[in-house]
Amino acid sequence: MRKKIGVVGAGVGGLAVAARLGSAGFDVEVYEKLGRCGGRNNIVEDAGFKFDTGPSFVLMPDFFEEVFVSCGRRLSDYLDLAVLDPSYKIFYADGGCLTVHRDASRTKEELEKFEPGAAAGYDGFLAETSRIYRHVQPMLYKRFGPQALLDPRYWLLVNKIRALSSYWGLARKYFKSERLCYAFTFEAMFIGVSPFQSPAFYSVISYADHVQKIFHPMGGMYRIPLALEKLAREAGARIFYDSPVEKIEKHNGSVQLTVKDAAQVPHVHFFDQAVVNADYVYAQNSLLGRRPRRYEYSCSVYLLYLGLKRKAPSCFAHHNLFFAEDLRRNLKEIFTTGTISEDPSFYVHVPTVTDASLAPAGKEIFYVLVPVPNLQGGRQDLSAGQEARLRSTVFERINKATGFDTEKEIEVEHRFYPQDFITKYNIAEAATFGLAHTLGQSAFFRPANDDPRINGLYYVGASTQPGGGLPVVLASSRITADLIRDRAGRA
Ligand SMILES: Cc1cc2nc3c(=O)[nH]c(=O)nc-3n(C[C@H](O)[C@H](O)[C@H](O)COP(=O)(O)OP(=O)(O)OC[C@H]3O[C@@H](n4cnc5c(N)ncnc54)[C@H](O)[C@@H]3O)c2cc1C
Repeated sequence: MRKKIGVVGAGVGGLAVAARLGSAGFDVEVYEKLGRCGGRNNIVEDAGFKFDTGPSFVLMPDFFEEVFVSCGRRLSDYLDLAVLDPSYKIFYADGGCLTVHRDASRTKEELEKFEPGAAAGYDGFLAETSRIYRHVQPMLYKRFGPQALLDPRYWLLVNKIRALSSYWGLARKYFKSERLCYAFTFEAMFIGVSPFQSPAFYSVISYADHVQKIFHPMGGMYRIPLALEKLAREAGARIFYDSPVEKIEKHNGSVQLTVKDAAQVPHVHFFDQAVVNADYVYAQNSLLGRRPRRYEYSCSVYLLYLGLKRKAPSCFAHHNLFFAEDLRRNLKEIFTTGTISEDPSFYVHVPTVTDASLAPAGKEIFYVLVPVPNLQGGRQDLSAGQEARLRSTVFERINKATGFDTEKEIEVEHRFYPQDFITKYNIAEAATFGLAHTLGQSAFFRPANDDPRINGLYYVGASTQPGGGLPVVLASSRITADLIRDRAGRA
């Protein structure tokens, strides 16, 4: 008889694991608390605007391709990935603007204007991050158990992947000015950590965006979970929405899930194996009744989704980063003192630069993301006063850099607060990117994809191995699916 698998959550990780296991012949059921798939990779539609609410950068497309190929399909039949040019713009507080182009030689010309000799630094930085990527890429598909700590092969890699240096330290080797160091380490914020705290091997993100380039799925980022949902259904998985899982227990060699239906009535389902895609720490606390160890968490974010009445000027790229005047202080506020900055860095996503299908004709989308402290230790969400100040600072900065009065052009507005990550997605401590990607929470030290106490219980997603971000969560789904297949093969 086919083994029965229950998946808790239809985020990108849950859908990818369902597709892989369905294709491998397992009988898969997915239970999702929300009314649609995608989790943090979600969408809000209003007045003809399609706001992607979470991820906006597609990096490392080979990780996306791998999922589809493993299910006997081709990515290009499901997603139309357009390469961006320019890749992004960085607006400095002093009025300077750095454009990162698809063509490296044009980027080097830009860098030379900022710092004579920076073009050579760029070559050196990319050569080193390429070497690191070659070592790190295969490790992203490996599950690290405690025994791996004793394996000398991994200890030999410590130096090769610069595990003991910081992301910031790596950039410092190649660029003199702090402003360029920030330009080559801001990607640490993609995984919600400070470049001063994250190990240098996370520079694989810089490698990906400069060497492999940045992509946009035409039709919007929400096409990604939709493509995975289709893949999972084609592989035979059954997906149940508005079906929150309330409890996970061990029962006579199987795993028991208690699921509430739309009428709030609990039902018990038994599975040979279960995979938890819901946030790892939330699941330990609320679904398994455990008290997890004290972890470090990524930052949170405050988001504005703005539908604008008219097009913004052409100085905006698809991706725009506005750096704080005092970046060091801003990072300290987010990650150390836990305060809301008066001089924040923020990001403006304008997907309608590339993809007109996301807004009514002649209109524009601005998605503004401001990194803020998470809610660990009972920290409170933004007060009305803090929010009003943050919002006006953002609009003033945009106006100063580009001459565009965003606020005047708003037709539709939605907001998303740190607390919403807890309420909507069950993300512990409102840590948008899950557990922090520090050395002490990477590889062996990050929660593994199998439960040490319940045989048959597995995990997939941002707070498990290997980590967060879409491509890495897709790698996580392979680790988990392989563990289940291998153990089923041995049984
Ligand atoms: C604002 C933002 C910007 C980002 N930017 C990028 C980017 O540019 N590029 C990139 O690659 N990544 C980015 N990321 C990260 C990326 O979105 C995540 O790493 C990824 O989507 C996480 O997927 P997941 O499957 O691990 O978890 P989730 O998306 O959290 O999915 C878990 C699912 O489980 C469900 N669930 C929770 N509890 C239960 C329960 N009890 N019962 C049933 N279901 C439950 C949730 O509703 C959710 O659907 C960003 C994330 C955010 C939020």
